[in-house]
Amino acid sequence: MKKIDYLDIIKHNLDKRNISVNIYDELPFHGEYDFCNKSINIKKDKYFFYTLLHEYSHVLQKEKNNIWRYGIYKNKMAHDHIDGWINNDIYYADYELRYIFSKAIAIEKDCEEIAISIIKENNIDLDIDQYIKRVNSCLFYFNYQYNTKSKLIKAPYEYKEIIDSMPKNLQNNYFNNSFMEVFESVK
Ligand SMILES: [Zn+2]
Repeated sequence: MKKIDYLDIIKHNLDKRNISVNIYDELPFHGEYDFCNKSINIKKDKYFFYTLLHEYSHVLQKEKNNIWRYGIYKNKMAHDHIDGWINNDIYYADYELRYIFSKAIAIEKDCEEIAISIIKENNIDLDIDQYIKRVNSCLFYFNYQYNTKSKLIKAPYEYKEIIDSMPKNLQNNYFNNSFMEVFESVK
């Protein structure tokens, strides 16, 4: 199936759930699923299909399993704590930080497992190896942030050096420093 045809299916399934898709030319991030306001906010760029598939998978994930609920820490989603910590707005003890990062990784990995099964079941015309490398760049990026308390300027998958060095399969453990050097090299 062509990507553009699967976009119609996503749109239809989101309409059924009264979830709107708001598309912006500029956003400080690529996309988010705002479940309180029943909307997906998304940047119109060359990653549009991947971002929308990802946010749509979060919608399915929230309906399908409890991982989302277990990802809530002190009334916020685990990854919403990370920026505050990096910006020094909030202090966390080591055990809290490890918990927040493990939950964020678990939620994002589970979301991408849903996205990958959608790609495979519908035979969507994209390079699955490249897709999984892109996913791995996002998941290993958590480990980079955890270890360095810093962020890259762009999303990790926007750096060719990072993508090229990523494995082609999902990993069991993302708290792994094997890829720290390549993340450091693009700074
Ligand atoms: Zn996500």
